[in-house]
Amino acid sequence: MSEQSYSQEKLKFNDLTKAESSVINEKGTEAPFKGKYTDFKEKGTYICKKCGAALYYSSDKFESDCGWPSFDNEIKGAVVRIPDQDGMRTEIECANCGAHLGHVFTGEHLTAKNVRHCVNSISLEFVPAKVEPGRYGLAVFAGGCFWGVEYYLQKSPGVISVTSGYTGGSVKDPTYQQVCTGTTGHAEAVKIVYDPQKTSYDKLLRLFLEIHDPTQVEGQGPDIGDQYRSEIFYLNDEQKHTAENDLNILKTKGFQVATAVTKASEFYPAEAYHQDYYLKNGKTPYCHKFTPRF
Ligand SMILES: [Zn+2]
Repeated sequence: MSEQSYSQEKLKFNDLTKAESSVINEKGTEAPFKGKYTDFKEKGTYICKKCGAALYYSSDKFESDCGWPSFDNEIKGAVVRIPDQDGMRTEIECANCGAHLGHVFTGEHLTAKNVRHCVNSISLEFVPAKVEPGRYGLAVFAGGCFWGVEYYLQKSPGVISVTSGYTGGSVKDPTYQQVCTGTTGHAEAVKIVYDPQKTSYDKLLRLFLEIHDPTQVEGQGPDIGDQYRSEIFYLNDEQKHTAENDLNILKTKGFQVATAVTKASEFYPAEAYHQDYYLKNGKTPYCHKFTPRF
């Protein structure tokens, strides 16, 4: 691997889906009680969906019954307040990229701080375990059974969290049983949050291509089926370019690459018992092993 792939990278903004853009870029509001973080109680950090900046800690989240995630404090300097065009409310935006987050209210006496950041879930991405303020990168890879991919990526320096889940299919909120039929279109995948000061997208991508077999078609190891296919889900053009470049390197080395490169779509975290599977069960993967290819 070249030294260059260890260098710090400048993070590009993530491409947004239509639903995300309507809130984040066009200052829309998601339907109340529908967002995925409204009643979410895990410990960790909420980062900006568009740029990856750390915005809120779960320790500042409280139940307001308003229908949207509520926080009574932001990470210092992460959020800017501007008068809303309606002349009444105060809009809140990501200080780094200007993503619309929601509105901030005072004087409601809901908590001791007497402040409520009313934030759209769709503007946020959750990272388990507390992270320091800064910008974080996201990567989504599918390479067979997600337990094995998660196991190796989690060990890589600079990786903050790895979530096993499903993406690339057509069924909303799929269950493991549905995905196992191989008919939902989803692949078992992992979503990685990483610190670009300590690692890079390219470094993680190359690791991914060395801990699974990118030449196997429609399966991985003993796991056969569409849900075990090899696929890179890119979040922006820079990631797409990096993926195509790395696959071309493998091709010039003679590998018959089967890995698809596809624009990322909605990622659905898998059931809790799939998360940190090998860590919790004290086992090692049957389906993945490290093989140098670069
Ligand atoms: Zn942002």
